[in-house]
Amino acid sequence: MRPLQMVDTKTQYQKIKAEVDAAVIGVLESSIFIGGKVVNDFATNLANYNGSKHCIPCANGTDALQIAMMALGLQPGDEVITPSFTYIATVEVAALLNIKPIFVEVDKQTFCIDPSAIESAITPKTKAIIPVHLYGHAANMEQIMAIATKHNLFVIEDNAQAIGSNYTFTNGTSKKTGSIGHIGCTSFYPSKNLGAFGDGGAMFTNDDELANKLRMIASHGQSKRYYHDVVGCNSRLDAVQAAILDIKLTHLDEYCNARKNAADFYDAAFAGTTKITVPFRASNQSHVFHQYTLQVNDVDRDALSQYLTDNGVPNMIYYPVPAHRQKMFDAFGGNTYDLPITDWLTERVISLPIHTELDEEQQQFIVNKVLEFINK
Ligand SMILES: *Cc1c(COP(=O)(O)O)cnc(C)c1O
Repeated sequence: MRPLQMVDTKTQYQKIKAEVDAAVIGVLESSIFIGGKVVNDFATNLANYNGSKHCIPCANGTDALQIAMMALGLQPGDEVITPSFTYIATVEVAALLNIKPIFVEVDKQTFCIDPSAIESAITPKTKAIIPVHLYGHAANMEQIMAIATKHNLFVIEDNAQAIGSNYTFTNGTSKKTGSIGHIGCTSFYPSKNLGAFGDGGAMFTNDDELANKLRMIASHGQSKRYYHDVVGCNSRLDAVQAAILDIKLTHLDEYCNARKNAADFYDAAFAGTTKITVPFRASNQSHVFHQYTLQVNDVDRDALSQYLTDNGVPNMIYYPVPAHRQKMFDAFGGNTYDLPITDWLTERVISLPIHTELDEEQQQFIVNKVLEFINK
């Protein structure tokens, strides 16, 4: 059996090595490392793929979220509504800009922000809702957009874990996640579903004016060279990464499918036990399984994790501490929140290896070890 890994970027690379190596050498020979045609072409291709009018590449997913908040004109003291059950980047950048994150509960099934918890968290200072499509499952964008429209709020989608996912509205319209809110943000961190061989990120919008602002802020606030209109930052996707990503983009649907097939295998294997709740899939969206995250019932989750580790099965707890319980948010009153579902989930979730290169032998081994422990 090939060694088990949470994500197998090495085997994935081997399969596209010839294409990738040629593209990288092309950039080296052009010696255009920053900006230029390779980066612009990738941005155009990704915008088209995502059904977004504009794609603005940047240095990483965290920057994408920060630049989005800056472009929307969010000011110190403003509030944004976000789930606490997420990766820290989503809320850290708000705090960095002195914008107050208001943490709300997630839905027990989808792990995404619970739309019914949003309205009661809205105050006169609220400027935006930041749903996170966690683990590759889309948040309930239909209800989120309706609430945002009603209260005149912006929506920034954190699409770092769900690129490639389709979301269908009740009127039949289907959109890619990341193209639904005012701005969508994504990350090309190597383990992400569209992963670079280094850091990278991007922002999506259909609004020409916002696109201009995003582009300007990512480039020192400049409107033209050496004319700086607003305070910005320096956040660029380099040409080597863009060249690699452009190739991987042509494989993204195939990658999403491979992840989905692996998830189907796990789902079937765990169907017989009530001690495991497999990931929920809302029928109006295509889960892209950035993670395959189980909830365990009447099982010592930490002991299961240790047992798997001891038996050579990598596993992770995403995330052991919710954002509102992180020390960094003490200053924002994080420790005053009562989010029982979020706390409950952090104690029950466990993620198994999922990636594009898993084979059935590997998956069966993983399944056997999980079942061995829970049936003990
Ligand atoms: C990875 C990730 C980010 C940050 O992306 P980086 O490229 O690592 O900065 C933000 N939000 C979520 C949900 C993520 O998973």
